[in-house]
Amino acid sequence: MFDYIIVGAGSAGCVMANRLSEDPAKRVCLVEAGPPDKNPLIHIPLGLALLARTRGINWGYVTAPEPQLNNRRLYWPRGKTLGGSSSVNAMIYMRGHPADYENWAKAAGPAWAWDRVCELFIAMEGNAAIVGAHHGTKGPLSVANLVHPNPLSRAFVQAGVECQLPENADFNGERQDGVGLYQVTQKEGRRFSSARAFLDPARERKNLTIETGALVERLCIEDRRAAGLHLRGRDILLRPGGELIVCGGAINSPQLLMLSGIGPGAELSRLGIDVVHDAPEVGTNLADHLDIGVLASTRGRDALGVAPSFLPRAIRSAWTYMRHQRGELTSNVAEAGGFAKSDPSRGRPNLQFHFIPALLRDHGRKTSFGYGVTLHVCDLLPKSRGRISLVGNDPLVPPRIEANYLSHPDDIGVLLDGLKLARKIFDAPSMKRHIKAELLPGAHVQSDDALIEDIRARAETIYHPVGTCRMGKDEASVVDPEARVRGVEGLRVVDASIMPSIIAGNTNAPIMMMAENVSRMMRGR
Ligand SMILES: Cc1cc2nc3c(=O)[nH]c(=O)nc-3n(C[C@H](O)[C@H](O)[C@H](O)COP(=O)(O)OP(=O)(O)OC[C@H]3O[C@@H](n4cnc5c(N)ncnc54)[C@H](O)[C@@H]3O)c2cc1C
Repeated sequence: MFDYIIVGAGSAGCVMANRLSEDPAKRVCLVEAGPPDKNPLIHIPLGLALLARTRGINWGYVTAPEPQLNNRRLYWPRGKTLGGSSSVNAMIYMRGHPADYENWAKAAGPAWAWDRVCELFIAMEGNAAIVGAHHGTKGPLSVANLVHPNPLSRAFVQAGVECQLPENADFNGERQDGVGLYQVTQKEGRRFSSARAFLDPARERKNLTIETGALVERLCIEDRRAAGLHLRGRDILLRPGGELIVCGGAINSPQLLMLSGIGPGAELSRLGIDVVHDAPEVGTNLADHLDIGVLASTRGRDALGVAPSFLPRAIRSAWTYMRHQRGELTSNVAEAGGFAKSDPSRGRPNLQFHFIPALLRDHGRKTSFGYGVTLHVCDLLPKSRGRISLVGNDPLVPPRIEANYLSHPDDIGVLLDGLKLARKIFDAPSMKRHIKAELLPGAHVQSDDALIEDIRARAETIYHPVGTCRMGKDEASVVDPEARVRGVEGLRVVDASIMPSIIAGNTNAPIMMMAENVSRMMRGR
């Protein structure tokens, strides 16, 4: 029996496990559906390029047909191993915009305001490259500059500057807008996932039990109080007064709540699930960053290519990495990027770029031969909302994901402006001299109508689904401002699903920060 049971060892779950097991008097159990994070592709940063093809450590979700995207079903990778999605992500370290957290404070109270969360970001950060008022250097989460940025990533930054975007060497500093190389959650050329940052230092604690390969099928709730959880063939129980903390991510957390009877009552009854608490918002409010890429072939051989001529370089790179943990294998793939406004009248950036010195198709699941570059652009503040729902009461059947991308009429215009800006950057002198030909959308695709058609045919997720167990002060929200599930005692949800609104940036560090914040609330700090 445990004082705390945590479901899911992802970005949030590892932070919770570390913080709650700091008190030796509390027995903590962390339960993870996936295997330990032993696969070397997790730890070698460029291994990311092959992770989407790797079985066993990825939930590999697909959405329902998306009506505004030609009824395409989109691929949604999610990490299923220690570290969760922080073990398969692109390692970009980003906090978001202060205004995001001012919105959170309005929705969920002062504990989520920028001045408060900024202190937490700084306390958690172990930045090896940037010091100053905005950064921490002693925290457990290692953040570093890229060890070996590709020359084309630098060319992209220069091209952005030629398009009047300011150069920004610190997206988590004074201001967000501009272009630059990203900082990454790496240490000495290796990925620094949530598991490395928060689980490794806690693994040896006698009061922490880590169970891997253990899919939680249902939460056990008695008299509207969390009592434990059901795995296939066995239960894990809470001590009286203990707490269950669900950290399964934006898809699995609402799924697990609904399988356990917490969700839209009528719908659950229809599926034969006993309703514990009628919570209509569980699974709703799903927001994500939709993204479109410009792909171009390049003249030289600077890019990370797939070609016989690349082989000697690949062998050299592997050798350099094995000996010194340096060289091209330290690339996080999405090396550079930045933030811009789709139109100047906007108060803050609503577009984010991810530049890749390689041709990337279908999340890396398709091989693209030759040398080339990809520039992704996404809508950071989408108005469209989707939902996660159950298709039955079997925990092994994936939930239905309706992202409802572009269902709000304002969203398509933002992405169209973003696509035009991405093309403009590739057309600026510093990139143009490297580019042989635009492959996608293709030079013949010019009119707004044709570009919109292209977006509908090709747009994909940039992997930031959030909001499906919304946190708020209002009674309709799924969790309260301390992440406690309304209507059930002893149960919290802490992960991407509780974001009150989507943030303007990558989501890993903000989710770790949320877990840190909630763990401090739980310990009365
Ligand atoms: C390919 C990709 C690239 C990305 N790139 C970046 C990036 O560069 N920078 C960035 O900031 N963000 C990035 N993100 C997003 C970021 O990594 C995620 O938003 C974040 O890791 C999600 O954290 P979480 O704690 O909500 O869930 P997760 O980290 O996904 O953790 C959930 C965990 O719970 C486990 N689990 C779920 N259900 C159960 C169950 N029933 N029983 C037991 N265990 C369960 C899962 O296996 C998983 O380990 C990326 C994401 C992906 C997928």
